[in-house]
Amino acid sequence: MEYKFDTHTHSNYSHDGVPPLGAMVKEAVSRGLKYLAVTDHCDKDCVALPGFDWVRQIDLTSRKREMTALKAEYADRIYLADALEYGYAPEANALYLDVQESYPTDYVINSVHIVEGIDVYFREYFDARTKKQAYTAYLEAVRASVDAPYLYDSIGHLGYIARCATYPDKRLIYGDFADLIDDILKAVIQKGKALEVNTASKGTKCDLFHDTTILKRYRQLGGELVTLGSDAHDPSRLCADFEEASAALLQSGFSYAFVYKEHKPHAVALDK
Ligand SMILES: [Zn+2]
Ligand SMILES: [Zn+2]
Repeated sequence: MEYKFDTHTHSNYSHDGVPPLGAMVKEAVSRGLKYLAVTDHCDKDCVALPGFDWVRQIDLTSRKREMTALKAEYADRIYLADALEYGYAPEANALYLDVQESYPTDYVINSVHIVEGIDVYFREYFDARTKKQAYTAYLEAVRASVDAPYLYDSIGHLGYIARCATYPDKRLIYGDFADLIDDILKAVIQKGKALEVNTASKGTKCDLFHDTTILKRYRQLGGELVTLGSDAHDPSRLCADFEEASAALLQSGFSYAFVYKEHKPHAVALDK
């Protein structure tokens, strides 16, 4: 199957993104994508918590202007979703409610990047904790993020903790945290949110789709809403590894992935 959509990408409006927004959109159009969500980081967690002043905050005013122009320019070729990735921290809930008021979106991913005040991208988080401690605290943060009071559509990259972990076996194993993971999956279902399958594993093979136990459990519990995102910070990675992730979803009992327009899910068949 040729994939015509991507629900998780970044432009240079993100502090760690490379491509100009227009370049990302152009690449998607030239590949024949029919749907693209550019989900630039909105890191109010870094505003609300101490020690993250170095994280450049997104310029939402400029972005809205450029996004609106691009949406109009490419309207007949692609659905360009004006989207954001919120970095969850309970301390930032009020700030995200303000963003929600001032910046209308099509789609919002709610992601945990900071746990116990530390960005889990950095090894210091793992150096100070056993794997059990590190992953438990992460999963508890994800569980809390499901109850966030602002509008969002999907839970981003469950298992992100494993990407940069320094343990010999980094994998997030369902059986090691079954109760906590069940609690997350049940809350996602009960709230009508989607679970994201994110393909940016950086070669760690720690994504949900390399070990499908969690995906299968989500399906078994009644989970239906899944999104597929590359988390591309560069146009060359658009739809990266979608074949493998899609095969894992099909094998786990999912027939569709979903894209969001004005916060409404639209099914996209995975088998053709
Ligand atoms: Zn993220
Ligand atoms: Zn991202």
